[in-house]
Amino acid sequence: MTNSLCEFCCHMKEIVSGKGSRFLMCQKSAVDHRFQKYAPQPVVQCGGFEQKEKEKSSE
Ligand code: SF4
Repeated sequence: MTNSLCEFCCHMKEIVSGKGSRFLMCQKSAVDHRFQKYAPQPVVQCGGFEQKEKEKSSE
């Protein structure tokens, strides 16, 4: 867990590789090219940020 905005954003999809590396994928990148699919973390400011409705515990 980082302090990145993406952690709390409804557009983020967490990807965990077979080797256990964790990537935060921005799903907004699919529809808006201003967003990078894998933005350099941590993201501290983002125009696309929208708070997740509720936190899921880590899976
Ligand atoms: S919209 Fe911004 S804050 Fe949300 S996942 Fe994408 S880069 Fe991260």
